Amino acid sequence: METRCAYCNKPVQRSEAVKSTLIYCNGAQLARKENEYCSSRCAEHDQMAHEA
Ligand SMILES: [Zn+2]
Repeated sequence: METRCAYCNKPVQRSEAVKSTLIYCNGAQLARKENEYCSSRCAEHDQMAHEA
């Protein structure tokens, strides 16, 4: 089964995907979202993009 990296949109096998919980501000509330990435680097970059 294949999914797509939440950051770079590259196709990645489910078994190889890196799962990371993204924490971001949704209005006044902190929201969490579990995303799948092709690599831990993409997970870090996506988290940084949401923290900025
Ligand atoms: Zn990626």
